[in-house]
Amino acid sequence: MGTKGREMVGNKVDEVIDLLNRALADEWLAYYQYWIGSKIVVGPMKGEVMTELMEHAADELRHAELLVTRIIQLGGKPILDPDDWKKLTNCGYDAPEDPFVRKILDQNIKGEQCAISTYRKMMEMTKEIDPITYEIALEIMRDEVEHEDDLQGLVEDLENMKFLR
Ligand code: FE
Ligand code: FE
Ligand code: MG
Repeated sequence: MGTKGREMVGNKVDEVIDLLNRALADEWLAYYQYWIGSKIVVGPMKGEVMTELMEHAADELRHAELLVTRIIQLGGKPILDPDDWKKLTNCGYDAPEDPFVRKILDQNIKGEQCAISTYRKMMEMTKEIDPITYEIALEIMRDEVEHEDDLQGLVEDLENMKFLR
């Protein structure tokens, strides 16, 4: 922990750490949802969807890395027990019980939309008090916006396939 770095954030520092930990829970759950989804997905455009899901899984893991680094910098204690993922998550976990592409894409789109709102809130909360966390939230949100767009693009392609018949 950098003492001056922590002091700079002021009396809301524990609140910032809490938001970071909640987002960390989201990222791990999102990582797993994408990762397991990429293994089981079936249906049209399966190969393309699988590749996209794997890429997104890697991005979510990178987001977890950014968050945990910031938590430690601020002198916080990152989540140590996976049991806490489900307790702290903002966006939850949608088990891909139905492996059909469309269903998996819809579940992940919902997750991305929740992630966008979560980082939006983190940005609002940190704007005036913690420019470093603000910048991390912005960087992550940029990816989440791209993720949503990619997944919706795949849904569109899938929909357009019916015109081929
Ligand atoms: Fe993410
Ligand atoms: Fe994402
Ligand atoms: Mg992508």
